[in-house]
Amino acid sequence: RYRNPELNDEIEKVVSSLKLNDEQLKHIMHCLEEEMNAGLSSETHKQATIKMFPSFVRHIPDGTERGQVLALDLGGTNFRVLSIKLRGNSHIELTSKIFLVPQSAMIGDGKRLFRHLVECLAEFMKKEHLLQSGICYPLGFTFSFPCKQESLASARLTTWTKGFSCADVINEDVVKLLQDAIDEKGINVKCAALVNDTVGTLMACAYKEPATSIGLILGTGTNACYIEDLDKVGTWNGDHDEPKQVIINMEWGAFGDNGCLNHIRTKYDEEVDLSSINPGQQTFEKMISGMYMGEIVRLIILDLLQRELLFLGHRDTYGDYKTPIYNRGGFYTKFVSTVETDEGIKFSNTRRVLEDIGIRNPTFDDCVIVQHICRQVSKRAARLAGAGLAVLINRMGKPTVTIGVDGSLYRYHPRFKRNMERSMEGLVNKDFKFKFALSDDGSGKGAALVACVAAHNAPE
Ligand code: ADP
Repeated sequence: RYRNPELNDEIEKVVSSLKLNDEQLKHIMHCLEEEMNAGLSSETHKQATIKMFPSFVRHIPDGTERGQVLALDLGGTNFRVLSIKLRGNSHIELTSKIFLVPQSAMIGDGKRLFRHLVECLAEFMKKEHLLQSGICYPLGFTFSFPCKQESLASARLTTWTKGFSCADVINEDVVKLLQDAIDEKGINVKCAALVNDTVGTLMACAYKEPATSIGLILGTGTNACYIEDLDKVGTWNGDHDEPKQVIINMEWGAFGDNGCLNHIRTKYDEEVDLSSINPGQQTFEKMISGMYMGEIVRLIILDLLQRELLFLGHRDTYGDYKTPIYNRGGFYTKFVSTVETDEGIKFSNTRRVLEDIGIRNPTFDDCVIVQHICRQVSKRAARLAGAGLAVLINRMGKPTVTIGVDGSLYRYHPRFKRNMERSMEGLVNKDFKFKFALSDDGSGKGAALVACVAAHNAPE
């Protein structure tokens, strides 16, 4: 493969440490299901790594929902405010605006964060002529951090993830914090439901595709939810009326936090973990999601560079700590997608990316090696996510399952979906069929649907 064949062995050693065969994935599936059962059981829930939170969402929408609802979507890169009109015939009209959450608000005081969210909401409502007295709009709050939900409209944050770490929010009811800030501002809004983005994605997809029973996020973070039988949910304290099911927000990003994935982690994974703001947490997420994928690739490239196995023509850049390759976050996850869109031997995209990180005129070998690394890192991520989905499909036992998916990694990576499907073919019971459906604006629409049903009479 390379023009410089003596490089192969050392590089192959690194690359093969990222490979996972079906036997390894089946073992991981077994561990995941054990952890799921531990999270669902009231005896073991406290110690379990995967929290398996009941979402309190029991009914899947049928398209007849009507009303004017607002939604807030916080949980990653963007904060969005949405206005959603449900027309009652599976038709949704949506307007939305993206607002920035400044870094200082992500790690500052909790009250300040919620005040900021409400300022954005009020500005949006003013523009949309929704600030009228006499009408109270129900609001669905997509809040995509691990929360122990106590009802549809109360949920306590258990930990921050994805770069957030505001003071005085952990263990607090985030719906109350939001509603307090809304009341302080004096605007005509009532938060009627809090949903996780996975749940929103599942709900929005089900509105069009009734067979949807899994919601999946592959963006800044990764997480999944699915429809579980109530009698398998030991932590459930609510009623057992029909439908005897509830959507479970798995918080699967924490899978492996008890060490059960250590045998497949590389030194690069350990490094990513140690330099993150939550070491020891979100092990599965750190091997899969967009917040970390580019960084894993960067650390591998840097290691090969320091061992003089890569960029040999650029020894002048060795030790030049100003070049992005030496700096945390210097290789974006979107670069992984760009590098992998190159087919053939021209490597025009790969060359562009390498120039961006300070390597001018890379050699053919450099491009081959960098692409090979990107492919293996993203393939490992896709195969791990695929193994997680296979557990859910086998467990639910439905003949056909649609998986509603949202997130930029799924949307823009050229092979992620294909690699997930390929891994699942070897892992999903042959009796069950599955397909993926991209959920557009899913998390916001889904939250609005839940809020609309919860509020009973949303204004038209
Ligand atoms: P969020 O999950 O924060 O709501 P996104 O779904 O947009 O938002 O995910 C953002 C993550 O997706 C970032 O970590 C970013 O690195 C990654 N990302 C953005 N563009 C691409 C791309 N073209 N290919 C792969 N990953 C991408």
